[in-house]
Amino acid sequence: GVGNALPSAKQVKLDKESELRIEVAENSPLRLRLLTGSAEIFGTEIPPEIWLTVPPRVKFAVFTWYGATIEMDGATETDYTADETPMISYVNVHAVLEARRNRAKASSSSNPDSSQGPRVIVVGPTDSGKSTVSRMLLSWAAKQGWKPTFVDLDIGQGSITIPGCIAATPIEMPIDPVEGISLDMPLVYYYGHTTPSVNVELYKVLVKELSQMLERQFVGNSESRAAGMVINTMGWIEGTGYELLLHAIDAFNADVILVLGQEKLCSMLKEVLKRKPTVDVVKLQRSGGVVSRNAKYRQKSRSYRIREYFYGLANDLSPHSNVANFSDLSVYRIGGGPQAPRSALPIGAEPAADPTRVVPVNISQDMLHLVLAVSFAKEPDQIISSNVAGFIYITDVDVQRRKITYLAPSAGELPNRILIIGSLAWLET
Ligand code: ADP
Repeated sequence: GVGNALPSAKQVKLDKESELRIEVAENSPLRLRLLTGSAEIFGTEIPPEIWLTVPPRVKFAVFTWYGATIEMDGATETDYTADETPMISYVNVHAVLEARRNRAKASSSSNPDSSQGPRVIVVGPTDSGKSTVSRMLLSWAAKQGWKPTFVDLDIGQGSITIPGCIAATPIEMPIDPVEGISLDMPLVYYYGHTTPSVNVELYKVLVKELSQMLERQFVGNSESRAAGMVINTMGWIEGTGYELLLHAIDAFNADVILVLGQEKLCSMLKEVLKRKPTVDVVKLQRSGGVVSRNAKYRQKSRSYRIREYFYGLANDLSPHSNVANFSDLSVYRIGGGPQAPRSALPIGAEPAADPTRVVPVNISQDMLHLVLAVSFAKEPDQIISSNVAGFIYITDVDVQRRKITYLAPSAGELPNRILIIGSLAWLET
């Protein structure tokens, strides 16, 4: 036998406070294990000796505080070690947050202000490492026994659920370096598009809804109140994107703003938040390891995210193909349609589209290959204020027989007949 000598395996020795940066190959996974010392992947310690299998295309780093030897087996796009990282400054932020959590926990839970832990919002351009910093802060906190709430406002490349959504979930354990955030029962609102400019007003309304829902949940839960939140945002920081950042900071009452690698954004935020002395704006260095992803890569990862929802990360789920009558389902679109009948408007005025109007939609061939959300709303007028139970994927529309075929994570009836449609599509690959 070949024993332990893997032909393609390679060992890498890491000095203290350095990292091994890896881009896994396009078509094959990479196996990796820790041989000596200790190391972490984005804030989560990796267990000694055990092989981890990292899926194709993943870009990540194995960082060590005290030194480690890593063994890897498989093809990579790139792999190199770096000893210049901003990790010390990131862990310093963690220490400050930790102190605030302890202070919140020690304070009487009857005082809503002093018992509130840090509410951190991470902002910066795309590919500045926002998601990665969010993840590290959450994993370090979870390692110390906190259950911070992760809020992801990135409808393009979010890490809690499929694209087109904003979502929140408590993080109870350091985030698994391979599997990511476990998808059980996050609080999800469906926006339905992957860019906010499609319906800025709706995006804002949903952000507000999510923040208010979390606020209500925190009232009865001093533990998660004290642990605080980490809020990840989109990379849109100019014009309307900047306005949306200010809106999110306000909606969630954020008190720590981490700005990744952008002097201009940082000073703009410092300037407007001067009148709020309780808000800290902190500039953080962007890691040299952060990889820029082009539009095609982003599109691909959105598609993989949807696939993962139905089939699981390792093809380990079995979604169900279901058939329903048109009459069993009620589909709604948010936005569009005239706000008021022409007759109710002053002469000469054009009816404006109301961005938050809920409009019933007839089931048609146009829905083929779209991803729809299953709302928890009891009535159509509750759709905007309701979170969603999950998603279905339309695979066939038979207009003659008035039957629609869809893929759902499980068999049986949907939890609700009210569905939300947007522009989110998926071509099963
Ligand atoms: P943003 O959220 O700002 O768009 P991300 O945090 O998603 O940026 O980072 C972009 C990409 O770079 C991701 O694929 C991430 O895994 C990768 N990445 C981040 N930090 C490092 C690092 N130190 N080494 C290697 N890859 C990294």
